[in-house]
Amino acid sequence: AFIVDHRSYSNENRNEDHIKSNYPDISLPRQHLIEYLFDGFRSFSDRVSLQCGLTERKYTFDDVMVKSTNLSKALRKKLNLREGDVVALLLPNIPEFFICAFGSMLGGLKVTTVNPIYTPDEIKRQLLDADVKAIVTLVPFWQLAKASVDLTKNNLHIITIKNTPGESTPTGAIDLQQLVESKIDIPDLEVPSPNETVFIPYSSGTTGLPKGVELTSSNIVSNITQVSQPDFKLVDRDKPTQDVSIAVLPMFHVYGFTTLLALMRDGVKVVTLPKFHPDTYIKSLQNYKPTVLLLVPPIIIFLSSHPGVKSEYLSSLRSITSGAAPLGALDEEKLRQKIGSPLNVIQGYGLSETSPGVTMTPLKQQGKFPGSMGTPLQNTLIKIVDSDGKHVGYNRNGEVWVKGPQVMRGYLNRPDETVNSFHDGWFKTGDLVRCDEHGMVYIVDRMKELIKVKGFQVPPAELEEIIRDFPSVAEAAVIGVPHERDGEVPRAYVISKSNQTIDVDKLQEYVSSKVARHKRLTGGISVIDNLPKNASGKILRKELKELYVKTGV
Ligand code: AMP
Repeated sequence: AFIVDHRSYSNENRNEDHIKSNYPDISLPRQHLIEYLFDGFRSFSDRVSLQCGLTERKYTFDDVMVKSTNLSKALRKKLNLREGDVVALLLPNIPEFFICAFGSMLGGLKVTTVNPIYTPDEIKRQLLDADVKAIVTLVPFWQLAKASVDLTKNNLHIITIKNTPGESTPTGAIDLQQLVESKIDIPDLEVPSPNETVFIPYSSGTTGLPKGVELTSSNIVSNITQVSQPDFKLVDRDKPTQDVSIAVLPMFHVYGFTTLLALMRDGVKVVTLPKFHPDTYIKSLQNYKPTVLLLVPPIIIFLSSHPGVKSEYLSSLRSITSGAAPLGALDEEKLRQKIGSPLNVIQGYGLSETSPGVTMTPLKQQGKFPGSMGTPLQNTLIKIVDSDGKHVGYNRNGEVWVKGPQVMRGYLNRPDETVNSFHDGWFKTGDLVRCDEHGMVYIVDRMKELIKVKGFQVPPAELEEIIRDFPSVAEAAVIGVPHERDGEVPRAYVISKSNQTIDVDKLQEYVSSKVARHKRLTGGISVIDNLPKNASGKILRKELKELYVKTGV
């Protein structure tokens, strides 16, 4: 039956100036992230917490707590890392990812995460920008880590993890195993304040190059608490049987990171897959019978359309979330049809800068507002503004601004960009949305430069800088163009230096050698005579997009 949750129709929270959550404010824990998580883990001590979907190695919640604590002491005592130092995780999804993150944070260190498919140039940039003191990676990624560290010309500790039997620790690297098994007798650190930064994912924000997003314990604890409220939560922690999730979304991205922590705190077993490969993914569905999955639209489309994914492999599935990119109403419906049994399909909207959750579909409203990204989470205010920063209210398009305990403290070492990303305490998202009279929010467009390929960030400024380095190029502009499977792909417009010709194939190759696969110019390169610009010389990417939509050029 079509029962609409009455609370979403209540007018009591309506305000001239902004839109409030339909749900009442809650009190939020003031705890360090690791204290908060371990408080949850203690109820599930012997249960398997993390398991590798390929090698099957696993850790109970107790193992995770003990090993993280040992690691925190070894990082301080053996590696001499000091409170506030930054550790980089250059890791695909493996169980040890979280042991390394928790161990670092328990040792008073901050964690920055790097996409392991990045090139040494991309990694070097982040290592320098975050002033990283130690990097953790897998043995097979040793060469990549070493090459990136060498480019920084700094002396960083490189810690490696053995992933498959027979691997040995490279000379010059430190074996993680030794650190997590070392029992060093030093007192625990005094727990850092919840207002300290613990996690620094990278995001370009609305403009420019990737920047470190400073998220505090308080930001992440708040967001986990917000998504774990009865109206939004995906699992029941008091249930006797254990929920299972297969983690294929990257843990290095804020969506995978925070939502997996929320599931783990509720006792869910997380099966990790280092990368999305259709065969291994289907096999894991068969073997592990997941009950809850965190997904992005391309994987939802894969689940509903791939002939190898049999409905019975999804028969235990009770809840999925979709985020990071727009999910079409039809795609949601197709998955429901394939599964047949009752399924919670929850869409969420957020950003690295908001830890990430801003809006989420309430459980009772799912399926009733197709294509909606949900309603603001508790303790969250949104404002939908026109170009003068004036709130436009319901059913009108505007940029969404956010206030809430999950909003970042700022961009690392970038005071100007931090100031520019806020207005009167409101965080400006760069996303164009509409909110209907029920408080349900819909994405309309992305106003900012950022391109998203399969949910991954591709900042145009980064590609433009690389293209401009190509000898025959004078100017460059990069936009996102629609792509059936990946959502969007980058496309470049280039102007040649006078009397020179741009070899487009060579330029493609050049860019591909410098960036991770998803940032390649799959949308093509167009050599043109002029770039549309405004009076102050800013490239009008919107006009290029319109041109592409109209003419395909
Ligand atoms: P990131 O910081 O990498 O998480 O990227 C954040 C951006 O992803 C947002 O500003 C949106 O443009 C986009 N995004 C996140 N969630 C959704 C969603 N449910 N639907 C459409 N776009 C989304």
